[in-house]
Amino acid sequence: MTTLAANPLGLQRLDLIKTQAFIGGQWLDDPSGQKLDVVNPADGAVITQVTDGGAELAKAAVDAASAAFQNWRATTAKTRAGLLRAWFDLITKHQDDLAKLIAWEMGKPLAEAKGEIAYGAGYIEWFAEAIKHTNGDVIPAPIGGRQMLAVREPVGVAAVITPWNFPMAMIARKFGPALAAGCTVIAKPAEDTPLSALALVALAEEAGIPAGVINIIPASRERTPQISQVWLDDGRVRKISFTGSTPVGKLLARGSADTLKRLSMELGGDAPFIVFDDADLDIAVDALMKAKFRNAGQACIAANRVLVQEGIYDALAERLAATVGKLTVGAATDGAFDIGPLINERALEKVERLVAAAVAKGAKVVVGGSRAAPGSAFFQPTVLSDMPAELRSSCEEIFGPVLPLARFSTEEEAIALANDTPFGLASYFCTQDQKRVWRVASRLESGLVGVNEGAISSEYAPFGGVKESGYGREGSVHGLADYQSLKYICLGGLG
Ligand code: NAD
Repeated sequence: MTTLAANPLGLQRLDLIKTQAFIGGQWLDDPSGQKLDVVNPADGAVITQVTDGGAELAKAAVDAASAAFQNWRATTAKTRAGLLRAWFDLITKHQDDLAKLIAWEMGKPLAEAKGEIAYGAGYIEWFAEAIKHTNGDVIPAPIGGRQMLAVREPVGVAAVITPWNFPMAMIARKFGPALAAGCTVIAKPAEDTPLSALALVALAEEAGIPAGVINIIPASRERTPQISQVWLDDGRVRKISFTGSTPVGKLLARGSADTLKRLSMELGGDAPFIVFDDADLDIAVDALMKAKFRNAGQACIAANRVLVQEGIYDALAERLAATVGKLTVGAATDGAFDIGPLINERALEKVERLVAAAVAKGAKVVVGGSRAAPGSAFFQPTVLSDMPAELRSSCEEIFGPVLPLARFSTEEEAIALANDTPFGLASYFCTQDQKRVWRVASRLESGLVGVNEGAISSEYAPFGGVKESGYGREGSVHGLADYQSLKYICLGGLG
C-alpha cells in the first residue's frame, strides 16, 4: 500500500504534502477542477492527486510575481540572505520527511533522496551567503569630473521549469540564486514529481518569504504547454530557466524569441567515460559506479558511453561485472536497496529498446539485461560489453542502470569518439598520467569534466553544458550572474 493514509514511509509531517498551486501567498485549485494523479513508480499506486494547472493560474502567477517584484528587489541583500538561511534551516530540519517524499513519488532509494535534499539545500545556503559578498564595479573614468559604476540588478520575474529526476535539487538550484539576486519566481515542477517541489515551497512560506515571491503550479504534461505559452508570451516574464530534455529546451528558446527573455538551458547529455590503460582500476570502478548507477542511471550527467583502452579492457570488465552484480534492487517502501524503479513505463520501454538494439548489433550482456521480472518497474543493473563501433559515438541518453563498455586503442581515438556527439554536458576520464590529465581535459567538449571522480556536482562550482546540452550555469558566482543584469551608471558634472 502506498496511499497517503497508509503513510508507508512514516512521514512525521503529513501537512507538508500539498496538493494545490501556490500563488500570491495562497494555496489554490485550478478553476477547471482538473486533477493530476501522483503515482509511486515502484507499484503504480496513486499516492494522491494534485490540482492540474492551466492558463488562468499561469497568468495569476505572473501577476503575483510581478506585483511582488518591486518590494522584493528593494530588500537588502542581508534581508534576503536571512530569509534564505531560515528556509535552508527548515529544509535541513525536515530533511527526512522531504527525502521520504522524493523516494515515494520518484522511486530513488531513501539514502540517495536524503543526499539530494542536502545537495539541493546547499544551493539555498550557498546563495544566501554569496549575495552578501556580491559587489558591482567602480570603473576608473577616462574623463575628469565623472564616476563610472556597474551595478548588478535582478533580471525580474523568472520562470522555472524542472524535471522529475532530481525533483527537489533541480528547483532549489534555481530558486536559490533567483531569490538571492532579488528576482521573484514562477515555477512548474515535473508532472511525475510535484509533491517534493510543493513541500519545498510550503517550507519557504513557513520561513517567511513574502507572498508572491515564490509561485508554483503543478500540471500534467498535457496542460503544461498552456502554462508555458502564457509565460512565453508575457513580456513581464524576463527570464526562463529550464532543466529538461533538449527538444523541450529548443521549443522554449524559440518561443521566447518574441519577448527576448534571458535564458538558461540545462539540457540532455551523452556523457563519455574514458578509462585509459594507466588508470588506477579501484578509482575507475568507484568513479564509474557513482557516475552510472546513482539514481538508477537517471541523471543528465550519467555515464552514457564507457570507452576503455584495450590493455585494461578485460580486467575492468571483470571487476565491473562483480561489483554491478552485487547491487540490490527494490522499492524504498520495502527497505534499503541500491537501485529503485525507473520513473515510468515509457522509460522502461526505452531502456529495453536500447539494450535490444545494442545486442542485435553484437553487444554481449555480462550482467542483467532485462527487467527484474516481466511487467516490473525495475530494470536490473546491467553491464554490456563489446558495444558495436557505431554505438561508441553519439548515443541516445539511456537514463537507466545500463553500463555499456566499448574498446579503443589510442588517446586520439578516445577524444574523437567522446566529442562525436551533439551534446556536451559532462565527460569523465581516469588516468594517472599528469600530462594526460590536462591534455585530455582541455580537449573534451563538455561543460563539466570529472578526472578520476564520478560525483562532481556541487553548489560551489558552475554546472552547465555546451553544444546542444544548453547554456547558462547553475551554482557558484556564475549561477548568480545568470539572474542579474549589469547596469552602467555614468555620473557626470562632478569635476
Ligand atoms: P522533459 O523535457 O520531458 O521535461 C522537463 C520539464 O519540461 C517538465 O517539467 C515537463 O513538464 C516540462 N515540459 C514538457 N513539455 C513542455 C512544453 N511543451 N513546454 C514547457 N514545458 C514542458 O525532461 P524529463 O524527461 O522530465 O527530464 C529528463 C531530461 O532532463 C533528460 O534529457 C536529462 O538529461 C535532462 N536533465 C538535464 C539536467 C541538466 O542540468 N542539464 C538535469 C537533469 C535532467
